Amino acid sequence: MPGFEIFGAEERKQVNDVLETGVLMRYGFDGMRNNHWKAKEFETTFAKRMDVDYCQLVSSGTAALTVALASAGIGAGDEVIMPTFTFVASFESILALGAVPILVDIDDTLTLDPKAVEAAITEKTKCVMPVHMCGSMADLKALKSICDKHNLILLEDACQALGGTYEGKPLGSYGDLGCFSFDYVKTITCGEGGAIITNNKKFALNADHYQDHGHDHVGNDRGAETHPFLGYNFRISELNAAVGLAQLDKLDGILKMQKQNYTILREALETIEGVTFRRVPKGGEENYSFLNFFLPTEELTKKAHKALSEAGLDACFYWFTNNWHYVNGWEHLRNLKSLGNISSEVKDQMQDLNNTNFSKSDAVIGRTISSLIKIGWTEKQVNDRAAKMKHILSSI
Ligand SMILES: *Cc1c(COP(=O)(O)O)cnc(C)c1O
Repeated sequence: MPGFEIFGAEERKQVNDVLETGVLMRYGFDGMRNNHWKAKEFETTFAKRMDVDYCQLVSSGTAALTVALASAGIGAGDEVIMPTFTFVASFESILALGAVPILVDIDDTLTLDPKAVEAAITEKTKCVMPVHMCGSMADLKALKSICDKHNLILLEDACQALGGTYEGKPLGSYGDLGCFSFDYVKTITCGEGGAIITNNKKFALNADHYQDHGHDHVGNDRGAETHPFLGYNFRISELNAAVGLAQLDKLDGILKMQKQNYTILREALETIEGVTFRRVPKGGEENYSFLNFFLPTEELTKKAHKALSEAGLDACFYWFTNNWHYVNGWEHLRNLKSLGNISSEVKDQMQDLNNTNFSKSDAVIGRTISSLIKIGWTEKQVNDRAAKMKHILSSI
C-alpha cells in the first residue's frame, strides 16, 4: 500500500497552493483562500471515483469509522459485529461511542464468516462491520442479505482495499457506509486522513455535522451556525487534504502497478505444491496491495515465515503473532485495560474474550502469510523476489 513511495512534485504543488494563502483550515476564510478548497475538491473527486453521492473527509481512518458509526445513530450499548482479524481501529471506534464490539470468526476470505455473523446477532445488534483486509473483500452479498433480514447497518471498512471492486462496485460503496484511511502506509496517503462514503443523504449530513462539533454548515458565518446535535472534532486540515488530492490522481497508476507485481509473484507461487491462496468472493476483484497465501499447517507456515525473513525478504507478514491485527495480540482489549472507567454496557455485554473459542480463525490465520506489494520494485527486483520466494517455499 504504497502512496508514500510516490510522494513527489504533484504533492508539493498542491501543498504549496495552501501554504501560499496560509489558510490551513477547510472551512471559511473565503476571501483569503484564493479559491483553494482542497478538502471539498477531494470529497467531490473521491465521491465520483467511488461512484457514490457523498464523501466526508476526516482526520484519520479511525475517525472515519467513528463518524460513520455515529452518523448511523450507533451509541451506548449497541452491538457492532466485527472480525477477529482486523486493525485495532475497529474496536477503538466502536468503544469510543460506548457501543459494544462483538468479535466473530473469519473464514478463508480472511474476512467475516457470514455464518458466524448470523450466529452472533442479538436484539442489541445494530451494525455489521466487515473489514476488507489486505486488499480483498468480505462476502458482501451474503452479509448484505443478513443485514437486510435483521435490519442492520452494513459498514464496510475498506481502509486496506481502496480500488478493489465487488460486482462492479467500488469497495466501500456496496454497504450503507464505507470507510477509508489515508494514513502514511495506505494505498494513497494524506499523511493522516480518512473518508466516509455513502449514498444515504441523512448519514452524509450527520457525518458532515458530527465531524465538526455539530456545525450545521448553513450560511457563511461559522460563529452563527447552529448545532442540531452533539458532535466532535474529527476535521482534516487543508494541508493533508491537498496531499491527498495529488495522490488521488495517481490511484489508477498505483493499482495497475500493484496488479502487475502481484501477478508475477502469484504465478511463481502457484506452481508450488501445498501453497494455496486466499479466497476472493465471486464477483470480486482485489486491489492487489498484498499477495495472501496459505501453507498446509501452522508449523510449516511459521517455518516458512522465518525462512523468508532470514532471506531478507522484507514485508512478508505473519499476522497470527502480530500485536496489531489479530485478537491473540489484543491483550488490552481482552482484559479491558483502559485509562479510565469503562461504561457498564460495555462491561456487561462484551464477550469474555479470554475464553471465547476462535479456533476457526486460528486455523486460517495460523496458516496465512501476506506479502506486501510495492510499486517501487523494478521488474528485476520483482522477478528476483518471486524466484527467492519460490525457492524458499518449495524447499519447505
Ligand atoms: C489503517 C486502518 C485503519 C485506521 O486508519 P488510521 O488512518 O490509521 O486511523 C482502520 N482499519 C483498517 C483495516 C486499517 O488498515
